[in-house]
Amino acid sequence: MTDSWVPLNDLSRAVASQLEDLRVVTERVFKSGWYVMGPEHNAFESELADYLGIEHVAAVGNGTDALELAVRVAAPDPDSTVVTAANAGGYATTAICRAGRQVRYADVGESDLCLTARTVEDVMDERIGAVIVTHLYGRTADVAGIRAVCEPSGVALIEDCAQAIGARTEAGAVGSLGDVATFSFYPTKNLGALGDGGALSTRHANYARSIRELRQYGWDRKYHVARAGGRNSRLDELQAAVLRGRLRLVDAANERRRKVIGRYSASAPDRVRVLPADSLQHVGHLAVVVTDDREALIEHLTSAQIRTDIHYPIPDHHQPGFGVDNASHLPVTERACDTVLSLPCFPELTEAEIDRVCKALEAF
Ligand SMILES: *Cc1c(COP(=O)(O)O)cnc(C)c1O
Repeated sequence: MTDSWVPLNDLSRAVASQLEDLRVVTERVFKSGWYVMGPEHNAFESELADYLGIEHVAAVGNGTDALELAVRVAAPDPDSTVVTAANAGGYATTAICRAGRQVRYADVGESDLCLTARTVEDVMDERIGAVIVTHLYGRTADVAGIRAVCEPSGVALIEDCAQAIGARTEAGAVGSLGDVATFSFYPTKNLGALGDGGALSTRHANYARSIRELRQYGWDRKYHVARAGGRNSRLDELQAAVLRGRLRLVDAANERRRKVIGRYSASAPDRVRVLPADSLQHVGHLAVVVTDDREALIEHLTSAQIRTDIHYPIPDHHQPGFGVDNASHLPVTERACDTVLSLPCFPELTEAEIDRVCKALEAF
């Protein structure tokens, strides 16, 4: 046993292997004279649209801004209510509140900890304008089932793909399955920038037009404010250039993440359920286990010098700062917050590190 820790994530390893390419692209940007919304930005938007197989992509400053703009276009009535899950880190709640809409929580399914058609149906009424479904931990949620609940009542479906870029179903890529989808390029995401970044994708030309106006002061053309509710949320040229290069690597990196999770699945004892990442519908953003013995497992892994974290420990309806919906009864959500644990998972984990985690799981 070595005396070094197995990190949960180590972003410097990817950078070390990409250093030459990063030098080339950043120098190209430095010399170009364009630093915000220039040629790299436009090329990234069209390359991401091609990758997702969708008509429109608009880049923005981060994933939470993307969610806020998605809520504004998908639930345009300011009095509307937006449904989301309470176990996904609070990003959707932040965005719904910033858009000035009401939040309503639906519970999640036992097997994948995502919203389901059943749980969404349980909270539907005429006030609902949109549903945000998060593809949690990298696994594709049941978008088709949830759409079947939403569509008859004209409720829009927003996919939060911050953890799931590259996941694919027979119906198409994650991000092309609902009305509008959001992405984050925060450095730890499967497609990460060297700073903040985000994007939206949509099939609807009218959504795309609204988003492009809202992300830049409500302008429909320079200095002409056509739309209320505008803000400034843009992706800069350096991040766009980095993301263009990394977009070409994301499928291979996702495959590697799935392999890591597969190894953990094969090693974990029965009382530790590894959420599977065994198909292209899962991109292994996080290696999450569910166990009633979480405290003991944390202690055991810590003594083996293996880092862990909890995604996420506090459900949104118990967050004091949100102050929303404290009366919600969300039994599966609440149990998940008490039983989930994330293990080291990133493409540059070494075989020796993966072995150490597997051995520790076997010994638990
Ligand atoms: C990271 C994340 C976001 C927020 O993205 P930022 O770029 O950090 O604002 C939204 N939703 C989910 C599920 C995330 O994991």
